[in-house]
This record gives sequence, C-alpha cells and structure tokens, in this order.
Amino acid sequence: MVLHLLAEHIRTIRQHGEQAFPYEGCGILIGEIQAGDKLIHELWSVTNTWDQAENPLADGESSNRRFLIDPADFKRANDHAVRKGLGILGTYHSHPNHPAVPSEFDRQHAFPWGFSCVIVSVQNGKAEEVVSWILDEQDQPQREPMQVLEQVQLPSIPAFAG
Ligand SMILES: [Zn+2]
Repeated sequence: MVLHLLAEHIRTIRQHGEQAFPYEGCGILIGEIQAGDKLIHELWSVTNTWDQAENPLADGESSNRRFLIDPADFKRANDHAVRKGLGILGTYHSHPNHPAVPSEFDRQHAFPWGFSCVIVSVQNGKAEEVVSWILDEQDQPQREPMQVLEQVQLPSIPAFAG
C-alpha cells in the first residue's frame, strides 16, 4: 500500500510541526482507499490534548514528548469524513528535536486499524524529514511508501509499452 498525499499536505504537516514547537503538533489524515492505496484528501488539524488529559501513565510526560488526540476530535473528523464519503486513514504528529521515528508510545497508541502514522521531525523549530509508518504483522513499525502528488488524481495507469 502506498500513501498518496498532496504537496500541500506535506507543507501543512511541516508548518504545523514548526508552529507547535517545542511541543508536538498533531492531526488526522482523511481520505479514501483507491486501487489498494491510500489517497489523502485533506488534513484535520487538532489540538494536542496531552497536557489537559489525565496522563494514563502518570509518568510526568508532557506534550513535547507525546501526542494525544481527543476522542471527540476523532469523532468530529470521522463525521466530517463520512459526510464526504471518506474515512480516517491515519494521523500525523511532530517530533520536536527527535528523529521521525515512532516511539514505543507511538507504537502502542498511534496505529489502530491499519492507520498510517506520519511523523515530521522538527529540529530547533525547523521541520525536516517527513516519514510515514505502518505496523507489520509483528506489530513493528515499518516505513510506508509515500508518494507526493501536486493534486488529487486517479492513480496513473501504466502507459502502453511501445
Ligand atoms: Zn511520536
């Protein structure tokens, strides 16, 4: 499965990460499965509620190391997606001063239902690498192939071999 995103989505993910710095910014990926690939139509940016939420691990972690999306935000995003005949296909969040690699916390919380987990590394306030991750059958994160499109389009049909 390939994750198709618009160049504009990548820009928004990077900007959101930079604006949220030194905290984690996060959001929801809305789109559809097309020809076996994920095609993202829009992003739903949400507030990182880690600080307001009851910390399930009570280990003093804060929103600069963790992200948590309010279930009410998920519901709003899902209702919006369903109205447009789309669905939630994953989430994105930033890693302030950390590489774009899922943490153990991410591995346990960010990947339900085959979700893509897109992470942008933000180093000293500047967005760098953007990587999409997905869990394999052993529940280990693997890089998910990502293709950046200029606009939403049908997956290209292979041209006739001459
Ligand atoms: Zn993370």
